[in-house]
Amino acid sequence: MNLDGKKVAVLGCGRSGISAAKLALARGAAQVCIFDSSPTAVCQDTTLPFCAGAGAEDAQAFGADLVVISPGIEADIAWSQAFCCAGAPIIGETELAFSYYTGRIIAITGTNGKTTTTALIEHILLHAGKKAKACGNYGYPLSELCLMPEQPEFAVLEVSSFQMETIVSFKPEVAIWLNFAPDHMDRYRRVEDYYEAKKRIFENMDSDQIAIVRVGEKLPGLRPRRVEFSAFSGAGQLRYENGCIMEAGEVVMPLRGTAMEQAHNAENVMAATLACRVVGIPDAVIAEAVHSFCPPGHRCETVAEIDGVLWLNDSKSTNLHSTEAAVRSQTRPVVLIAGGKDKGLSYEPINPMLKEKAVLCIVFGQIADQLEQTFSPVCRTIKVETVEQAVAAAAAEAKRGEVVLFSPGTSSFDQFTGYVQRGQCFRDAVHATLHL
Ligand code: ADP
Repeated sequence: MNLDGKKVAVLGCGRSGISAAKLALARGAAQVCIFDSSPTAVCQDTTLPFCAGAGAEDAQAFGADLVVISPGIEADIAWSQAFCCAGAPIIGETELAFSYYTGRIIAITGTNGKTTTTALIEHILLHAGKKAKACGNYGYPLSELCLMPEQPEFAVLEVSSFQMETIVSFKPEVAIWLNFAPDHMDRYRRVEDYYEAKKRIFENMDSDQIAIVRVGEKLPGLRPRRVEFSAFSGAGQLRYENGCIMEAGEVVMPLRGTAMEQAHNAENVMAATLACRVVGIPDAVIAEAVHSFCPPGHRCETVAEIDGVLWLNDSKSTNLHSTEAAVRSQTRPVVLIAGGKDKGLSYEPINPMLKEKAVLCIVFGQIADQLEQTFSPVCRTIKVETVEQAVAAAAAEAKRGEVVLFSPGTSSFDQFTGYVQRGQCFRDAVHATLHL
């Protein structure tokens, strides 16, 4: 991409906008300005030209040749389109950075498991002695890798559907599709729009590149070579049996005793293994790295095991699919704590799973009434208001051999600033209630 002498408008003053602006300047743009629609927005990098509360007049006055948009902003809204007034193309930060990144890209998408898998692949590559950085939605924006004095050999790039909306030529060497379920209905009008945006990860890939896909995902006619995995089916190249990842009847890697032994995490390990094989990492090195890996916090993390009851914090579960996966992965009877903000979703689809695995549901938050109505026909359900009350109820009810799974299944914004604060509240309540 030739930016010499060009005027670049960067929309959004978050981390990805700042990195994109710095990259554009470093690559010869004549003028770069970051714009934000909020009058109270603050740009953390005060060295960059910045316009808060920007409107159509500011867009027109700037007269951009190129518009680079942050993933949190929709490209087709009038505010964004105002910056394209003179016919300037609009691309995302991922596309801008892709045109300057000289290393190899392993890209990861899916409704759930992206961050865990991204962190795991980075961990494996580093363990194998490679120079690798987790980036994209997790870690550094890809633009920051381009600005490093020496670009790392591998970008392990977590990509969301939002980032894929604004690619043009983006083409990873390996793309992982972990799973797909309805989500982000606040951004997309139809589930199909979310799916189509995500699917663009494969758009520019050729038959000499690799798509790593969970068995059963509806992705007909992919150009890259497709390799499949599943913890719940024997139809893929890798499967999961008795706590071991298996291939053609042979054990590839035992996961028992690792932080990745639950079935949904086993799928993340399978995807990571297949990707790391493509770039030449031997299975023995991958297995060693997996053994020393711990997923980032709030993802089915063990908080305590007291009197035979295991307490898990899965606060990062912000949709139904991740709660279903967490319940399905449990080998003990489940006391499920779920609830939070009303995102307008129906929770009925997890009823068969609850019927099979749960002995009690404790529901809390804005959505508690709805959850009580939905779950109570299949499982005894207790309604409370807060996470602290939910923990107290679980402590009174859970029996030896059971697992208390805090997997809210929706966002936390009715009571918290985000999943981290919500998860910390759960940890604190467990510690206080159990006198740890
Ligand atoms: P993402 O970055 O896609 O949000 P995370 O790794 O942060 O994914 O995990 C988000 C939630 O999804 C957590 O509740 C976690 O336990 C759950 N999860 C992780 N991996 C998977 C998977 N492969 N399938 C389903 N759920 C998963």
